[in-house]
Amino acid sequence: MSPRSSQWDEVYRLLSWWDTDRVAAARVLVVGAGALGNEVLKNLALLNVGHIFIVDFDEIEYGNLSRSVLFRPADVGAVKAEVAARRVREINPNCKVAWMRGDIIYDLGLGFLRTMDVFIGCLDNRVARLHLNRYAYRLDKTWINGGILNLAGSLDVFKPGVSCYECGLRPQEWEIIRYRLGCNDVAKRNANQGRLPTTPISSSIIGAMQVQEAFKVIYGNDEQLLSRQRYFYDGQSNESKFYPARPLRGNCLSHATWEDIRDVEELTAAMTVAALLQTLRESLGAEEVRVHLDYDIVLELYSEESMTSTPVLLPRFRIDEATYRSHQFVAGEMVRIPPEMTVSQLDDAFPRPDASLLDVGIPPWQILQVEADGDFHFVTLAGDRGTYFDEPAALTGRVATQ
Ligand SMILES: [Zn+2]
Repeated sequence: MSPRSSQWDEVYRLLSWWDTDRVAAARVLVVGAGALGNEVLKNLALLNVGHIFIVDFDEIEYGNLSRSVLFRPADVGAVKAEVAARRVREINPNCKVAWMRGDIIYDLGLGFLRTMDVFIGCLDNRVARLHLNRYAYRLDKTWINGGILNLAGSLDVFKPGVSCYECGLRPQEWEIIRYRLGCNDVAKRNANQGRLPTTPISSSIIGAMQVQEAFKVIYGNDEQLLSRQRYFYDGQSNESKFYPARPLRGNCLSHATWEDIRDVEELTAAMTVAALLQTLRESLGAEEVRVHLDYDIVLELYSEESMTSTPVLLPRFRIDEATYRSHQFVAGEMVRIPPEMTVSQLDDAFPRPDASLLDVGIPPWQILQVEADGDFHFVTLAGDRGTYFDEPAALTGRVATQ
C-alpha cells in the first residue's frame, strides 16, 4: 500500500469498529449500474471497498444523466458498467474494479459469484431479481435488494434461511415474470424496460442504506442485519416504515443450497462438450455422466412459410431478431423452435460434442450440475479461476478489468 493509499481511510480508522484490512479484502458484486447502482458504487468507492465487480446490460442514454452521479454527457452511448468502473477508479484508485456488459442470469459463472462476499441488487425488473435470489441461495450468500419509485424507496436484505425474495412474490408478480420468461428475447429485456419515474433523492437514500447493510455482511454482523424486516422510505413524509419480512414457504424453488461444491482444475468453458464429459468421467470415477442445464439449447429453427429447417446451436436465451436475420429469415417470417430439437442436458447423446461450453451458453467459471452414475454433484470449471478479475477478455471478450 502506498503512503497515500494508506491515508484514504485515516478518518474512518477513528471509528472504533473500522477494520482497514477487512474492508480492503471485501469483494462486492453490484448488479445494475443505473440510478441506484451509481449511488451504491459511489459509496463503495468512498468507503475504500477493495474489490468491486459491476454487471449491467445497458448503454448510457441522455435521460440517465439526471439521476446518475457517475455519468457525464460525453458518456452517452457508452457501456454503463464500463464507465461506472472507470469513475470508481477515478474516485478511489485503491479499489480494484472490474465490469461486464452482460446479464446476471446467464453471463456470470457461479464459481465466480461464490468468491464474492455480498451481492447488491440495483435492478429494475423481477426476472433478474428472481435469478439473483436463486443464485444467492445456491451459494449461501446474502443479497441486498433496492427499489425506487417516485419519491419512495424500499430495501430488503435476503439471507438464505431467514428471508427470500421468491417467497414474497405475489400472484400478480408471478404473472409478469412468467410472461417475460416466455418471451424469446429475454436477453434484451433490460433494454426494453419501461421507464419509471424516480429522483436522485430516493436512489441516494436507498443506495446508501444498501451499502450500510453490505458492510454488516462484510463484518459478519448478523444481529443488526435488516434480514427479518422489510424497509420502506416515504419521501413525501420522510417517514421510515418497517414491516416483518414475508415468511419462508416450504415449496419455494429458491431454497436449494448447493453443498459439497467440487473444484475441477482441468475444466474450462473453452473446452469441448466431449472433453468435458471425458474429464468428468475421470475425475468423478463414473461411467455415465450428464450435465443438467437450467435452459434449453436449440438445435434447429423451422420456417412455417418456406417449410425449411435451419440447423443452429444456440442457447434459447440468445435467440432474438438478430438471430433470425443472420440466418436469412425475412422480417415477419414465422419461425418456430421445434420442441424435439431442443436439449437441456449434455451427455453422450448430445449431437455436437465438438462444440465448446461457451458455444452452448455456459459462462467461464460456472458451477455445473452433474449426474454421475445416478449421483448428483456440483462441479466448478475451476480452470477459469481468475477470469473475471484477473484474466479478462480472452474467453468471452466481454469482461474487462483495469
Ligand atoms: Zn423462498
